[in-house]
Amino acid sequence: MKPQYDVIVIGGGHAGVEAAMAAERMGVQTLLITHKTSMLGEMSCNPAIGGLGKGHLVREIDALDGVMGLAADLSGIQFRLLNRSKGAAVQGPRTQIDRQVYKSTIQKMIKERINLTVLEKEVVDVIVQRDSATGVIISGGIKIYCSALILTTGTFLKGTIHIGKEKRSGGRIGDKASESLAEKLYSLNLPMGRLKTGTPPRIDGNTIDWDLIEFQEADTDPSFFSFFTKSCKLKQVSCGITYTNEKTHSIIRDNLEKSAMYGGSITSLGPRYCPSIEDKIVRFSNKESHQIFLEPEGLNTDVVYPNGISTSLPIDVQKKYVNSILGLERAKIIQPGYAIEYDFIDPRSLTPWLELKKIKGFFLAGQINGTTGYEEAAGQGLLAGLNAALFVQGKKNFSVRRDEGYLGVMIDDLVTKGVKEPYRMFTSRAEYRLCLRADNADQRLTQVGINLGCVSISREKLFIEAKNLLTFTKKTLEALFLTSNQAKKNGLIVKMDGKTRNAIEYLASEVITYDKIISIWPEIKDLDLTLVTKIVNDYKYSFYIERQKKEIQKMKRDEAIGIPSNIEYENINGISNELLSKLQKVRPINLAQALRIDGMTPAAITLILFNIRKLERLNHSKKQKIA
Ligand code: FAD
Repeated sequence: MKPQYDVIVIGGGHAGVEAAMAAERMGVQTLLITHKTSMLGEMSCNPAIGGLGKGHLVREIDALDGVMGLAADLSGIQFRLLNRSKGAAVQGPRTQIDRQVYKSTIQKMIKERINLTVLEKEVVDVIVQRDSATGVIISGGIKIYCSALILTTGTFLKGTIHIGKEKRSGGRIGDKASESLAEKLYSLNLPMGRLKTGTPPRIDGNTIDWDLIEFQEADTDPSFFSFFTKSCKLKQVSCGITYTNEKTHSIIRDNLEKSAMYGGSITSLGPRYCPSIEDKIVRFSNKESHQIFLEPEGLNTDVVYPNGISTSLPIDVQKKYVNSILGLERAKIIQPGYAIEYDFIDPRSLTPWLELKKIKGFFLAGQINGTTGYEEAAGQGLLAGLNAALFVQGKKNFSVRRDEGYLGVMIDDLVTKGVKEPYRMFTSRAEYRLCLRADNADQRLTQVGINLGCVSISREKLFIEAKNLLTFTKKTLEALFLTSNQAKKNGLIVKMDGKTRNAIEYLASEVITYDKIISIWPEIKDLDLTLVTKIVNDYKYSFYIERQKKEIQKMKRDEAIGIPSNIEYENINGISNELLSKLQKVRPINLAQALRIDGMTPAAITLILFNIRKLERLNHSKKQKIA
């Protein structure tokens, strides 16, 4: 350990790992400080990565040469493409993970980085001098200095674990909370709040009656996260499916007041879309049963994660309701479910490049910004790491626009709207989702990453090869065509309009199968099916994409109108008090960001625009006077 680093990252969760690796890839000397190095790559909750919206984030992380996608591919034990029957824009790759393999893969990747040092210590204080972050103090009082600091402490800031009425300090089960660092953040007057999340009990798989349970298989043609991966590395397994029943519901209903959440011990908000079993029983009281996925935690462990029954009920009640479920009558709980409450920092105090507005060189990423989920944390970590390195190098900051990626959607949502409950990514959050498909993340972002300097030579080579292959595949398909008459003669169902159509157009038809097209043009069989699908998707979406592109152009014109930082919203007549306080809190950097503030009206935007013009005229005449 040296006394000074370019970038220091506090916390080795998913945000911290991705941040440290990204800063390192940018060529700056990076120090990652975390409580326990053996917990690097730990998955605190469900043993799965990806899903709807989340899978898109992982593909984007991969496109910028991040590590989550590659590590997930190397440890995936059940790859499934969610929403397979729906349009490509809303399909989400997901995999069950072998927890141990994921952890050791991440730890190996970290060890291989030459500019990255890992230190197993607790950070008890941050050093801020003249509104700039300049270092940390670790337990034992040693100071380590840096040019940029990234804070990624997840659920650890004043973390409180709740099981029924019992509560204790902890960052997650088995780990201590971060208390003194939280005190320091209060003293910096950062806007902070409290959120909660929960996890289900873990079950011994040997005590489950698997004969009574349905199974869900892995996909036979797996969709991976990394553009590098070509095949599964680990054996693929099935997940079990079972259901709660009336008995389960009545046990939970009878004990509601013992739940930390319903008994009044927890008042902070949790994720509405990822409710605890208590929440489900209360909110959806007319539902007779709820589905539970029995997810294996790995190939060499018997631990099973029952997805769908997270809880803060006392252990004896957890045992009772678990044993009321089909197949779980004899089930033994290895670790109880629990809820955790923790401090977060209002993300509206951040810029779109995740730097605190009031402290230079101080970046925040992950659950501390009010999000939940590994993928959301990793995505922010990546961007914070890149920006901390750019800050050190004296280069312009980098942010992803909403029309460029889910990473941009998430960060813009956070810094503009803030959070009322833990923020999780969904495809519905992205207004430009037709352009932001998981299958084109590399086309959207890898060149940007190459220009920034965060993409390895091997990935750059692979990207160029893939781009050339895509062009070749497209040209090959475009060169194969048939008139409608010829198509009919070949047995294709087609509109008889005398038009000539190419293979892409025929492949895009809902009524023509891929095998039928191959029987006409056998050479298509030799093309890469993933690329063919990508080209056909681009064609299918082209009409909508054109329309979206026009909207994007308009948005860019709006975005171009910057809002001077010295604008005095309080002096603008006609803005409601509610909007005024939001504008003062967010301090949007441009009109597009102002437009996305909750409750913003066209009238208020016109007033802001009028004042921007007024300030510009004032500045202009000041300059003329000086000249
Ligand atoms: P974490 O993974 O929490 O990592 C924080 C890291 O910082 C840890 O390594 C810690 O040791 C370190 N650290 C903290 N303070 C210090 C310090 N002072 N000095 C040094 N190191 C420090 N996600 C979902 O998507 N769905 C769920 O249902 C879900 N449920 C959850 C339930 C529980 C009980 C928990 C704990 C988490 C749950 N999560 C869930 C959230 C998921 O685990 C997190 O979103 C994700 O891990 C956050 O990543 P992070 O990097 O921000 O923080």
